[in-house]
Amino acid sequence: MTTPNTPGPEAPREAATPLARLLARRIAASGPIGMADYMAECLLHPEHGYYTTREPFGTAGDFTTAPEISQMFGELMGLCLAQNWQDQGAPAPFALAELGPGRGTLMADIWRATARVPGFHTAARLHLVEASPRLRASQQAALAGLPVTWHTTPDALPEGPLWLVANEFFDALPVRQFLRAEGGWAERVVGLRDGALALGLAPAAPLAALAHRLEDTGPGDLVELCPAAEPVMAAIARRVAARGAALIVDYGGWRSLGVTVQALRDHRTDPILAHPGQADLTAHVDFEALARAARIAVPRIGLSGPAGQGLWLEALGITPRAQALARNLAGPALDAHVAAYRRLTHPQEMGTLFRVLALHPPGHAPPGMAEQPR
Ligand code: SAH
Repeated sequence: MTTPNTPGPEAPREAATPLARLLARRIAASGPIGMADYMAECLLHPEHGYYTTREPFGTAGDFTTAPEISQMFGELMGLCLAQNWQDQGAPAPFALAELGPGRGTLMADIWRATARVPGFHTAARLHLVEASPRLRASQQAALAGLPVTWHTTPDALPEGPLWLVANEFFDALPVRQFLRAEGGWAERVVGLRDGALALGLAPAAPLAALAHRLEDTGPGDLVELCPAAEPVMAAIARRVAARGAALIVDYGGWRSLGVTVQALRDHRTDPILAHPGQADLTAHVDFEALARAARIAVPRIGLSGPAGQGLWLEALGITPRAQALARNLAGPALDAHVAAYRRLTHPQEMGTLFRVLALHPPGHAPPGMAEQPR
């Protein structure tokens, strides 16, 4: 998703989708559900989930992502990972992994760009973490003939040296929302009003996980928490601490404040309760929370960034690469290429909203980044 966050009205006009009816029955029987449960059902319900049933990417889908915009994104990422692998002694074998690979485009570009790096392809074992069986099939087609193993969760990744990428994975993980109130935090829940899904609030209570947010929030502020991100960061940090690196690219900031959950349908924002299972639901990534989770798991883990995607790509050489590709293009193809370059890097497009957080062994440089220790 690359469209700015402009939340729409919250209440659905009708229980428009099969999943809405199913959730309404569940809520009528056992009470309101948290926002994280709602998001998880909408995205990954085995029968009606967005990622399980739809082709979300590209012009025909609901949103587009950096690797789908231009091959340059994956090429530069591949080369900086390979450089980092060499800098750490070129361990063989090693796991080359991706979380949430979508159509498999990013890994295909990484693979193509690293073909001439001596020993890289023979040492790499590809591991993809993907929850949607339908998207696994797309990835299989994009990476036909390569040594790929699929996993459902990141803790199933092998032990040992790991170079990992995750582009727009964490924004798809469900978040809980808490409103600061007298006496603690009131969780925002999805309940029923006149038989239709509607937002409400659970009674306020103190919450240890948000103790550190008492300092920078006041009554009426809303904070989002992504509990699912914590074990993912722990699994990555534990593996990368010895040898490897992880590049996490997503939109978001350092410490989240306010509602960032949004639904996107046909490239437009949609009220979040309007079309469960038929719209993409995402939240901005709280990079401070990701870094915290990594540090809790491995206190000495190397963390760098988050750097703005535009400057990061610039440092990796996107401009000369774009110029080289432009030499073979003309007319509308050249216009599209220039627009893609701008979209990936410009501060008013993806250049600053998207950020890159790197995890690496202590004492080693992060891939493609001047060290910016956290
Ligand atoms: N990285 C790709 C796709 C981003 S969309 C790109 O940049 O184009 C999010 C991806 O994460 C999809 O492949 C989706 O199926 C996957 N995904 C979402 N939630 C997941 C979860 N909890 N576990 C594993 N994969 C998940």
